[in-house]
Amino acid sequence: MTSTNAADLVIAFDNSYARLPDRFFVRQKPTPVSKPALIRLNDALARDLGLDPVALASDAGIAMLAGNRIASGSQPIAAAYAGHQFGGFSPALGDGRAILLGEVIGKDGIRRDIQLKGSGPTPWSRRGDGRAALGPVLREYIVSEAFSAFGIPTTRALAAVTTGDVVLRETPMPGGVLTRVAQSHIRVGTFQYFAARQDVDAVRILADHVIARHYPDAASAPNPYRALLDGVIARQASLIAQWMLIGFIHGVMNTDNCQVAGETIDFGPCAFMDAYHPETVFSSIDRNGRYAFSSQPAIAHWNLVRFAETLLPLLGDDQDAAISEAQAALEPFAGQFEAAYGSGLRRKIGLAPAPAFVVGEDTALIRELFDLMAAGRADFTLSFRRLADAAADPAADAAFATLFQGGVDPAPWLARWRERLSSDPVVPAVRATQMRAVNPLFIPRNHRIEQAIVAAVGGDDFAPFHRLVDVLARPFDDQPGNADLALPPEPDEIVQETFCGT
Ligand code: AMP
Ligand code: MG
Repeated sequence: MTSTNAADLVIAFDNSYARLPDRFFVRQKPTPVSKPALIRLNDALARDLGLDPVALASDAGIAMLAGNRIASGSQPIAAAYAGHQFGGFSPALGDGRAILLGEVIGKDGIRRDIQLKGSGPTPWSRRGDGRAALGPVLREYIVSEAFSAFGIPTTRALAAVTTGDVVLRETPMPGGVLTRVAQSHIRVGTFQYFAARQDVDAVRILADHVIARHYPDAASAPNPYRALLDGVIARQASLIAQWMLIGFIHGVMNTDNCQVAGETIDFGPCAFMDAYHPETVFSSIDRNGRYAFSSQPAIAHWNLVRFAETLLPLLGDDQDAAISEAQAALEPFAGQFEAAYGSGLRRKIGLAPAPAFVVGEDTALIRELFDLMAAGRADFTLSFRRLADAAADPAADAAFATLFQGGVDPAPWLARWRERLSSDPVVPAVRATQMRAVNPLFIPRNHRIEQAIVAAVGGDDFAPFHRLVDVLARPFDDQPGNADLALPPEPDEIVQETFCGT
């Protein structure tokens, strides 16, 4: 509960991570900024967290969101973690530009971190300045809140502020601070930090903390650490399937960006595909395409193997027993991913859940659609959305077909699809409604994010940012006044590369 008296900002922090042993973090206050100003406060999220939006938007609240003031009950810390970045292991990364203010219990009873990102240097900053440029702050706000509206597990954005200070990147940029909310900021890389130091006690303490916080059912399992591993694997399988079902490319699936609670975290060089192609890569730092769209399940599995390795000392009485537990836990990942992705794809094209014997033929139908989309450079999002229109009324087939370029004609496929739909009898309008509920019309398109950033950074104009956030709060609804935001980029608007915030 927050007091409504701005002069007396009290938040009911309960800081379980700060109660862990000292070697898990360093106590670190944010560094004040010159001139904090609120860009946007997420009122609805604040209320869900039991915080008072009026107090947060007051001078005292904005000062807290900029790192200029420590609310009572806050115990600011920077957490230790390690991580494999593009396959290479860094034993000491840690929060170099983020500071955890504390944890609150939301109205849903779930504990969440409130963290500032861009709040100044910490002992983990190495050569970085601990700051964030305004562009990446806006980008994370837009994309993480869109994820929430899609219903995909994600960290959230509680607020964004400008700092009045300049940060030096390729060019000088205005600075910003994002207030990030997450079920926790514990990553595979947090486990790796202690495993790399052979600090088995710390791995056990961390595992017990994660079980209590994120996987409470595991506590009563015959082997709680095996149950934890099973749980983390299952949530990652489901998460990656959900990313792929909306054409999302994370871009930096390093183990330090793989959160063990199963939320999407770190929206740096991420991007949504416009034209579909399975090998799409956006990130400027991903030169070898390690984190390409269709590689994401394999990379998640690779990250989970790294996670399992950290748990080996806890998994069995001896090393052989531990390794067989880990292998047994990892084995279902591919099947879990395929099941979630496959059933999601069926829903996307309007098919009912099916017994395994018809799935084979349906899988071929779906694969043919993807092949056509790739050959015709069809827009991923609009392909499925217009297919929903075609399910309602074959007169919409023409609008679907215009998405395909280079002489690719989807008409024969549409005929096979309709033939298949006839054996799943559903009233066409009902099927279309079901399809629209899983196929968003609005996604955070790169060129729109870019335009919102350019307007804010170059012209101090936050209207395009606010408009994008507002429209993306209802991504499945037709919003006639905002139809332009549903469109793919014109050739001169295409964003070829995305950059991380550093
Ligand atoms: P990320 O790219 O957010 O996954 O960050 C990877 C690592 O680099 C983490 O340890 C971050 O804390 C650190 N880092 C990123 N940007 C900065 C910065 N501007 N100053 C200090 N550390 C940073
Ligand atoms: Mg990160």
